[in-house]
Amino acid sequence: LSDRLTSTFKNLRTKGKLSEADIDATVREIRRALLDADVAVPVVRAFTGAVRERALSAEVSGALNPAQQVVKIVNDELVSILGGQNRPLRLAKTPPSVIMLAGLQGAGKTTLAGKLALHLRGQGHTPLLVAADLQRPNAVTQLEVVGQRAGVPVFAPHRGNQGSEDLSGIAGGDPVAVAREGLATARARQHDVVIVDTAGRLGVDADLMQQAADIRDAVSPDEILFVIDAMIGQDAVATAQAFAEGVDFTGVVLSKLDGDARGGAALSVASVTGRPILFASTGEKLTDFEVFHPDRMASRILDMGDVLTLIEQAEKAFDADQAEAMAGKLASGEDFTLEDFLQQMQAMKNMGSMKKMLGMLPGMGQMREALENFDEREVDRIEAIIRSMTPAERRSPKMINGSRRSRIARGSGTTATDVNQLLDRFEGAQKMMKQMARGGGMPMPGMGNL
Ligand code: GDP
Ligand code: MG
Repeated sequence: LSDRLTSTFKNLRTKGKLSEADIDATVREIRRALLDADVAVPVVRAFTGAVRERALSAEVSGALNPAQQVVKIVNDELVSILGGQNRPLRLAKTPPSVIMLAGLQGAGKTTLAGKLALHLRGQGHTPLLVAADLQRPNAVTQLEVVGQRAGVPVFAPHRGNQGSEDLSGIAGGDPVAVAREGLATARARQHDVVIVDTAGRLGVDADLMQQAADIRDAVSPDEILFVIDAMIGQDAVATAQAFAEGVDFTGVVLSKLDGDARGGAALSVASVTGRPILFASTGEKLTDFEVFHPDRMASRILDMGDVLTLIEQAEKAFDADQAEAMAGKLASGEDFTLEDFLQQMQAMKNMGSMKKMLGMLPGMGQMREALENFDEREVDRIEAIIRSMTPAERRSPKMINGSRRSRIARGSGTTATDVNQLLDRFEGAQKMMKQMARGGGMPMPGMGNL
């Protein structure tokens, strides 16, 4: 997608309205990107349909070209489906807050229990982990290991360890009883958060779902987090729907986002269930854990670097009218003057932040290099020199002979060599601008002269 976008950006100069053809071309790219990112097919269909509708009725922006505008609509739509802003964890007004984890086996629930515990501990909470997965023989031990690493006590059914009762009486394996007892213990010991780990199966099944629902009814969670492996691909929709109906989760955690997964599952789950994504799990270590940001995920899904940030910053950074006037001038073959050159340099100086911005834009390495070599202090000297020229000299620098050159140098507090250098650079820039006008390149201010 990056390559395709780069070529789209070559047409940055393109002006005019959003035509149906422009929109359809860009929507096609977006569809491909979403399918590449493993967004479920029906979700892709619904999404691109909505984007197309919105683009067709969009107000045409002065600062963005049609492709950029469609991309912006796509991004806005993605961010909005992904929840707009991060939804923080909902904690109870009266502790303890109960957080229950649900999801398929291997989704990353137990790992997440530890991550969440560590995260909450870091915020000054005193979580208690409850091992209500009695399905697998080592599930309890696994949670205990995780708890130890997080420095958080674990309530487990088969033996007492720090902060837990010996519950051998119910060790026959009633996860609902364990959850209930765990909550009671948290109350008694004044833990302000209880994290209940539950069992999963490899596939959705009715028994599992019933068990999860029973645990839920026993502890009335403030938050039921559905943990889903980001690599699950097309199965995301069916799995998420099953858990939405089975336990009615309140939020989503995307796990294994450290892999190749491009996060298509995020869009599938969010769009099918309408539930917010709260966290992302990004590795096996307990610290591989992040608060989920819809805007970053949107970029990741579209694999655009932070293109949209760039567009937004660019919109603010330089006066669109000025850029358009320049583009029009070039297109009409009008001469590029020293005044234009100065204007470009000043724009360039204003765009000091562009260096960073261009780093975000795929395929913009060359331009960034140009900016790296750009000395902002030079602009003042260039300005002084050009201001010391007469209007006639600015219009036709060819007339600047030896005596004019010394007068300009004296007037600007520079040397004749400085004046010559400036004129050489200007000539180079002029040549470049002419080429760009012919070849349809990008008329970024200041680019020609470097
Ligand atoms: P559960 O069955 O849902 O409790 O899943 P686990 O927490 O036991 O995790 C299953 C496997 O996935 C374990 O090997 C974890 O180390 C691994 N895992 C969990 N979360 C992540 C993650 O965010 N990234 C990676 N790379 N591995 C993870
Ligand atoms: Mg587990």
